Amino acid sequence: MTTYPARAVIDHRAIAANIASLRDAAGDALVMAVVKSGGYGHGIEPVARTALKAGAQWLGVAQLSEALRLRAAGIEAPLLSWIFTPADPLEEALKARIDLSVSAPWALQAQARAARATGLPALVHLKVDTGMGRGGAPAAGWEGLVAEAAALQREGLIAVRGIWSHLARADEADPQPTAAQVAAFRDALRTAVRAGIEPELRHLAASSGTLLHPQTHFDLVRPGIAVYGVSPTGSSTSAELGLRPAMRLEATLTHVKDVPAGTPVSYGHTYTTTTATRLAVVPLGYGDGIPRHASGRAELLVDGRRVPLVGRVCMDQVVCDLGPAAGDVEAGATTVLFGDGSDGEPTAADWARAAGTIAYEIVTRIGPQVPRVHVGRGEGEE
Ligand SMILES: *Cc1c(COP(=O)(O)O)cnc(C)c1O
Repeated sequence: MTTYPARAVIDHRAIAANIASLRDAAGDALVMAVVKSGGYGHGIEPVARTALKAGAQWLGVAQLSEALRLRAAGIEAPLLSWIFTPADPLEEALKARIDLSVSAPWALQAQARAARATGLPALVHLKVDTGMGRGGAPAAGWEGLVAEAAALQREGLIAVRGIWSHLARADEADPQPTAAQVAAFRDALRTAVRAGIEPELRHLAASSGTLLHPQTHFDLVRPGIAVYGVSPTGSSTSAELGLRPAMRLEATLTHVKDVPAGTPVSYGHTYTTTTATRLAVVPLGYGDGIPRHASGRAELLVDGRRVPLVGRVCMDQVVCDLGPAAGDVEAGATTVLFGDGSDGEPTAADWARAAGTIAYEIVTRIGPQVPRVHVGRGEGEE
């Protein structure tokens, strides 16, 4: 039993429903649930298990360490990792049957070395940069990379399971930048076929591609944020996309007090009460991942009412103004910072707007010290 005065409640029924929506949207394409960054702050292992149970066929993570952790937890589903360095334990990855991304010749050679050492072929997804300008081989290096991969595949050292890329602007209303990336991807696929590489999995779409651009689906889609029920765009709500936010961030009020008009609140006195009112102290701050940029701009739900966060966000606490007619709200009452938006709850998207950021950052940044309480996992697991 935790005594932490706050918690992130993760509703696995929402995650399962979101996977069902995504499978629907994906049509014939397979669904890779992306669980990087600790399952976007929701808890990597529990989310991975629920996503698989709900019908996701693959898991995706950024860091190789996350992939190894999932395998150590006994999760055996196909699993792709796309971040590792020349110093990383690729032999371990091969033994754990983790698929790895390749954007450059060094990664191909490192995997071939690991294959020789283990006697197991590396499972490779060749990545091409079609316009993201981040990972992926640049156009000029693609032909050389696929030729090298083809040679290693003939030697039996690697098996090219996928060719993939990532979209930079699929969340925008303008379809043109995405269409240009699709065209570049098709070009890269033709180049690979000419080199004798024709993998079973061509993949390009993350959440926004999955939900908004069917022409990006190919053989597999890689939704992340949508698995957690958060909209990948600022222009559509979760509900409009058939998603339900899975995380509800709650805290127990630690202090409630009546103050006169003219009471300044928190560092810098950026807020002063205008009437006699009741203030409540919430034991979460920027040290827990509450964005300081939301100071004086966000709202919380207390006793079924939206109330403003007032003054600056501190490291461990924020203050909200319950108003003069606050009834009998006392220390020990529960406040909801964000949830699925039902019953007047603010959402992570509301906090993102308040803080001038994206909802991805709001959920992902909730600190590891805030307990995750998993509900809705099924029989006797709550
Ligand atoms: C994070 C990530 C995803 C998932 O992105 P969402 O926008 O959260 O759906 C998919 N592919 C790659 C390469 C990523 O880095």
